[in-house]
Amino acid sequence: MAIQKGNLVLNILTEKCPHCGKGHVFEKKSEVFQFPVMRKSCEICDFKFDREPGYFIGAMYISYGLAVLQGLITFLICFFLFPSLPTIALPLLIASVILLFSVKNYKLSRIIYIHIFPW
Ligand SMILES: [Zn+2]
Repeated sequence: MAIQKGNLVLNILTEKCPHCGKGHVFEKKSEVFQFPVMRKSCEICDFKFDREPGYFIGAMYISYGLAVLQGLITFLICFFLFPSLPTIALPLLIASVILLFSVKNYKLSRIIYIHIFPW
């Protein structure tokens, strides 16, 4: 049913439609600190992104996984490259990194989710 066009990883990273691989899933930002707005359907193939109410609740699990992965990578970098760092700095650094990537996580988790469950 779903016609996959182009490279899957490239489509996810460039936030393209899971059906045609050309249309953008999110609206273009008009301001720098604007929260991302998802389109209702693809501009090229009219593929509906939000299938049903609550469809993207599952994307929270992906977002959680991405945040844990970022926290783990931050911890490992701090632990091995900066061993003299005070213990209290680690959770603060990890929280800062997760907060810094939160908007990107939001977009990436939804994109990954519609690529996993495209119908
Ligand atoms: Zn499309």
